[in-house]
Amino acid sequence: MSADSRTPRFATQAIHAGAAPDPATGARVQPIYFTNGFVFDSTEQAADIFAMRRTGFSYSRGSNPTVAALERRVAALEGAKAAIAVSSGQSAVLLVLMTLMKSGDAYVASPRLFGGSLGLMRRLDGRYDLKPQFAKGLTPEDFEAAITPETRAIVCESIVNPCATVMDLEGIAAVARRHGLPLVVDNTLASPALIRPIAYGADIVVHSTSKFLGGSGQTIGGVICDAGSFDWTKSGHYNLITEPWPDYDGLVITERFPEIAFGVACRLFGLRDLGPGLSPMNAFLTLTGIETLPLRMERHCANARAVAAYLKDHPKVAWVSYPGLPGQPGEALAARYVPQGPGSIFTFALKGGEPAALKFITSLELVSHLVNIGEIKSLAIHPATTTHRQLAADERAAACVGPETVRLSIGLETVEDIIADIEQALARLD
Ligand SMILES: *Cc1c(COP(=O)(O)O)cnc(C)c1O
Repeated sequence: MSADSRTPRFATQAIHAGAAPDPATGARVQPIYFTNGFVFDSTEQAADIFAMRRTGFSYSRGSNPTVAALERRVAALEGAKAAIAVSSGQSAVLLVLMTLMKSGDAYVASPRLFGGSLGLMRRLDGRYDLKPQFAKGLTPEDFEAAITPETRAIVCESIVNPCATVMDLEGIAAVARRHGLPLVVDNTLASPALIRPIAYGADIVVHSTSKFLGGSGQTIGGVICDAGSFDWTKSGHYNLITEPWPDYDGLVITERFPEIAFGVACRLFGLRDLGPGLSPMNAFLTLTGIETLPLRMERHCANARAVAAYLKDHPKVAWVSYPGLPGQPGEALAARYVPQGPGSIFTFALKGGEPAALKFITSLELVSHLVNIGEIKSLAIHPATTTHRQLAADERAAACVGPETVRLSIGLETVEDIIADIEQALARLD
């Protein structure tokens, strides 16, 4: 066998990467280490771990063996050098922005993002002077046009929540490289089963594991992945990562940890200082979810495509935003980046406007009216009055969320049953 054929492929890694039988007991499943503290062998070891002179577990806010298994697994699936698990996807976005930037800095952001990310960005702008510079559109040229001398990063989603637009990651990564900026990609809606952004040039990948990675809608969590490829020292702008930390005996993260500098900065500042660590129980449930990720994503995509195709031809439906269908805007990018299909979260609009959208949602029986996405169960929500409610009208328009719009997250039920439920709900509209 060649070396290449022995490198585990994706589905194998989803099951095995980062965890092995427990050396102490032989337990095959990753044990859940419910302990806050870890006994030190010596005072020297304790001091070394605190000063980052050696790695080891000390206190579960910063790292925990069960959480570490999840971190290794997601890092393997994303092709990253390191990963840091946090308590939510929202914390993942927050820690990335706070670790990269200080007050007065700015970053170019996609105009189409998850509503919670847009809300966070606006609040950080108002209170902490971290300025989002929203691109005028979704092309690499639009992102490039928004860059100024204050820009320190570019942020986008791989597949956009809620409208399923597939972004030109390679094009945007080329812009980032040309301007010496790290590219941050929120890969929640694709999961590494559909898109691995690092392969297209992303430097940092974030996830809400509350969605496809966990898969069953049981736990909130997030992960930050460090590709280990960005040169933090070149511009001199990323002082947390490149300058000495006086309280850590002058530790310079890029010197001590050149391959995982961003990840280490996120862990020290993000977890030790700010504190949003992930519970070992939630890490365990997410690890278990990831084991079936490749299988689930295949069926999520197939079911979503069938539902989108059904809706597109329905007389009460104005439009469907699912670029996996022929003739849709963004079809070429979807075909290039996600041949399996652009996930299972998408929007459609009812000709009857907001009253029809609300009545459709309350008429559903099998499909649940709730705010999560990427679960095994099919879900529906009215974004304009919920997830995107806090946005200004022009921001909602940029995110393509009008009053007539419904967001669906198509699950793994038998697709005929999902379509039958949607059919009866549509039949109740005037
Ligand atoms: C849900 C979501 C988040 C936030 O994640 P939580 O786990 O809910 O905090 C961030 N980005 C995207 C794209 C999401 O869908």
